[in-house]
Amino acid sequence: IDVNVVPIFGQTDLPINYIVLLYDITEIRRLEKVRTDFVANVSHELRTPITAVKGFAETLLDGALEDEEVLVEFLTIIYNESSRLDTMVQDILQLSKLEQRKITSAAERVRVTEVIEEIKTILLQKIELRKIQFKVKEPEPLEIEIDRDQLKQVLLNLIANAVSYTHDGGEVTVYVRQIGHEAVISVKDNGVGIPKDQQSRIFERFYRVDKARSRNVGGTGLGLSIVKWILENNNGRITLKSEVKKGSDFTVWLPFKQINNTNGD
Ligand code: ADP
Repeated sequence: IDVNVVPIFGQTDLPINYIVLLYDITEIRRLEKVRTDFVANVSHELRTPITAVKGFAETLLDGALEDEEVLVEFLTIIYNESSRLDTMVQDILQLSKLEQRKITSAAERVRVTEVIEEIKTILLQKIELRKIQFKVKEPEPLEIEIDRDQLKQVLLNLIANAVSYTHDGGEVTVYVRQIGHEAVISVKDNGVGIPKDQQSRIFERFYRVDKARSRNVGGTGLGLSIVKWILENNNGRITLKSEVKKGSDFTVWLPFKQINNTNGD
């Protein structure tokens, strides 16, 4: 608690009364801690790829340049690690804009399955390489009013995770439907699953169940935080059901700003 004492003066030089102000600064302190933790985490996370880039470049400069095979191998690592850095910086910037609500959004009528098809195209190479069976189920045509790019980002992050954290030959299914006054989009996989005690933590910045695995699949640990913030800014929410070795079901709930189906305006 912060205390501030303000004297009240009458006719004379001596105060005739005092006002005591008590400030509850718990929340301010908490926010400060969140911020300093974030800076510490960012520095730590950025250091890993930077160390790799520096180390491999140094080794090349020290003479490994002659062997062409080694050269290609090291340059590939340098390229991949700098791509990771790039993605991470973009994610960090986006997250900070979202948290400060500095993202402008332009709502339009969006057919959800169209966005899913675009995402499928983006991920196609990975889906085919890993022999993932990707299915979309939509009993009724569903449209919602939302910023298209933001919806795409949410679904891309969830579907990319489902593909990444599923074994080769696994299944990823997206269900699109209406329940009450909400559009409900579930991204289900039959992959590695998430332990119960970590299910709420995975929405925190940089939190990963398995760091090595996340890094291998190119993850930054920021995807789900971005999802959570976009949904919060759109009056939506996300729920999770998951069981280790059985798979996960991330379900997005969004209010229809205007309702749905067929023609009409
Ligand atoms: P990352 O870039 O590491 O994927 P995310 O914020 O998207 O970061 O996810 C945080 C962590 O949650 C992941 O590292 C992973 O451990 C876990 N996770 C996310 N989606 C899934 C999923 N579909 N199946 C299993 N684990 C998941």
